[in-house]
Amino acid sequence: MVHLSCSLFYNLVFPLRYSEFYRIMERSQKIKEQQDMYYETAEKLLTFIRKSPTAFHAVDTMKNILAEQGFQELFEKDYWKLIPGGQYMVTRNNSALIAFSIPENAPRRFHIMASHSDSPTFKIKENPEITVEKAYVKLNVEKYGGMLMSPWFDRPLSVAGRVIVSEKGEIKEKLVDIDRDLLMIPSLAIHMNREVNSGYAYNPQKDLLPLYGTAGTEETFGKTLAEAAGVREEDILSHDLFLYSRTRGAVWGAEKEFVSAGRLDDLQCAFASMEGLLSGEKKKSIAVHCVMDNEEVGSGTKQGAASTFLKDTLLRINSGLGRTYEEYLMSLADSFMISADNAHALHPNYTDMTDPVNRPLLNKGIVIKYNANQKYCTDAVSAAIFKDICTRAEVPFQTFVNRSDMAGGSTLGNISNTQVPVNTVDIGLPQLAMHSPYETAGVKDTYSLIKAAELFFE
Ligand code: ZN
Repeated sequence: MVHLSCSLFYNLVFPLRYSEFYRIMERSQKIKEQQDMYYETAEKLLTFIRKSPTAFHAVDTMKNILAEQGFQELFEKDYWKLIPGGQYMVTRNNSALIAFSIPENAPRRFHIMASHSDSPTFKIKENPEITVEKAYVKLNVEKYGGMLMSPWFDRPLSVAGRVIVSEKGEIKEKLVDIDRDLLMIPSLAIHMNREVNSGYAYNPQKDLLPLYGTAGTEETFGKTLAEAAGVREEDILSHDLFLYSRTRGAVWGAEKEFVSAGRLDDLQCAFASMEGLLSGEKKKSIAVHCVMDNEEVGSGTKQGAASTFLKDTLLRINSGLGRTYEEYLMSLADSFMISADNAHALHPNYTDMTDPVNRPLLNKGIVIKYNANQKYCTDAVSAAIFKDICTRAEVPFQTFVNRSDMAGGSTLGNISNTQVPVNTVDIGLPQLAMHSPYETAGVKDTYSLIKAAELFFE
């Protein structure tokens, strides 16, 4: 008796149909694998964001991940000893980070991907406790950046940042995260302002001060802070502390196609840039992952995109490899930068707010941003190069231009270019509710940017 395997038999009898069936099976398997990758990436992103309630924490989280992958920390105050094949990182103010990888053959060209570590929030002021009518204690805060204010109401909040402490005669910096539901900004009931739903102008000094506790509480804010930092209250000399929303990130929607969390702008891009740096081959250029602080307040600080941080680091890489200043200038002329900062997706309830033709959608890929007035530095050349990167990485891309009657926002690229003049494209991932403490993006897009970054860093 002749034994024929089922598939062989089927193949002999229905040759075409079987191969078609096989192709379909293979395709659906590939789609499933890709789907799994999207969710895995989204979960990884949410973990990264949860560990990064402030710019200081985002830098610390990245430093830990990079150190695990063999990146050696350099300090700006020291001499740098760089070798081809080495991977390094350096921070400024502990809130901006640049990591770079030098291939064995030490090429001259830099491939830079820039994003930012900060997000709009409220900063705790000095002497923050305010007692209200011997009943409550609330905290005095001020705005950091241009945020949507209404979503900060009626949700558990907490405080994170850094404290500077005196320890055995030395001044030390400590990260702190009061990791529990600590504060709330309660709304005024509708009965006390019937007009509120017709529009209300929030006053940050009056409306946005978070409730902390009951008047006379022994658990003062200073005490709670010291406990979280693991120091004595009297040793705290100063602080940079910010509010953050305690609402956990979530993947949701009919087909779980959306991902929401705080600080997607711009930790989603910072995360994708770092992941691309780690998984890319990094053979033909010096790969530079650059995360700047203070983008939300105009970048004009020593650790912002307008500072010399990137320029100083590139110059030191150049001289560390024994090259002249002229060779540095030659490198820049041959380098490329991706300025990665999130973009506005078409809003389901405000479709008229988007340009009639360039309408970015969630899950439809990386957004290339254009602006005639150079708020975005994408031009024909840099757009073409980036489109080619996306095509070769097999990821989708789309385009964004503001409506001609809207000003729109600004970002890192053009500001950074005044210090480091390299050919630059401005891109981002499409999102909704930008600058809310709970923003929404597409579950697939982070993965697309990682793939593009990976190819770019190759
Ligand atoms: Zn941003």
